[in-house]
Amino acid sequence: MTVTTGGPLIVLDGVNKWFGPLHVLKDVNLSIERGEVVVVIGPSGSGKSTLCRAINRLEPINSGTIVFDGRPLPAEGRALAQLRSEVGMVFQSFNLFAHKTILENVTIGPVKVRKEKPAVVRERAMQLLDRVGIASQAEKYPAQLSGGQQQRAAIARALAMQPKAMLFDEPTSALDPEMVGEVLDVMTSLAREGMTMVVVTHEMGFARHAANRVIFMADGQLVEDAPPTEFFENPRSDRAKDFLSKIL
Ligand code: ADP
Ligand code: MG
Repeated sequence: MTVTTGGPLIVLDGVNKWFGPLHVLKDVNLSIERGEVVVVIGPSGSGKSTLCRAINRLEPINSGTIVFDGRPLPAEGRALAQLRSEVGMVFQSFNLFAHKTILENVTIGPVKVRKEKPAVVRERAMQLLDRVGIASQAEKYPAQLSGGQQQRAAIARALAMQPKAMLFDEPTSALDPEMVGEVLDVMTSLAREGMTMVVVTHEMGFARHAANRVIFMADGQLVEDAPPTEFFENPRSDRAKDFLSKIL
C-alpha cells in the first residue's frame, strides 16, 4: 500500500443525503485513520449501505464533504475511476462476472482499468487467490464455487486493485452459516495486516475481535462511536441498548 499523505484516510464532514423526501444521512461526521478497522452496525434502513456507497461515490451526497486520502471525492471521469480502484468494495451478493473464470474475475480490473501487464497481474492474482485459500479454484467459474468461496474471490478481486481501503457491506449475510467463518477469517487477517476497513456487519464476534471502533447508526445518524469493549459493555444510548438486546 502506498501512503501519499499523512492524516486520516477518510473524513466525512457534515454529510447529508436525501432520497427524495427521505433524509438518510443526517449530518454525518466521521474520521477514519489509516489502518483503522471500523465496524458499522445498526437496524435495517438506518443508512449503513448508503454511508458505504457514499465513500466511493456510488451515491452522490447532497451536502457536506468527503475527503479520501487528502482529496475531496471526485465527481466524474478518470479521477473517479481512480478513486473506485483505491476503495475496494465487497457486497452481500458476490457480484462476480458469471462468464469469466475466478482468475479472470481477479485480473480484469488491473488489466482493463489500470492497464497493468497481464503477466504481472496474473501472478499477483494467483498470490491473492492463494491468500484467500482458493488458488485451486482459479480456472473454475463462479457458479462452480460455494458462496463462501465466491465471496473470498470477490475479496481477492477487490485486493487485486491494491486499494488503500476496503468497504464491506454485510459480506456474510447471504452465506450459509457454515461458510461465514471462512470469510470472516480472511477479513480478520486483512485487518491484522493493517488494511483500512469499514465493515457493515451483524457479526458481533468480528466487531469485538477485529474492530478498533464500532459505530452504531440509527435513522441516518451516527449515534455512538466507541471502541468495541466500551460499546458492548456500556452502550450509552437507549437505541443501542435496545438494538443489542435484540441481536445478542
Ligand atoms: P441500511 O443499509 O442501514 O439497511 P440503507 O442505506 O440501504 O440502509 O437505506 C437507508 C434508507 O434509504 C432506507 O429507508 C432505504 O429504504 C432508503 N434507500 C436506500 N437506497 C435508496 C434508493 N436508491 N432510493 C430511495 N430510497 C433508498
Ligand atoms: Mg444495507
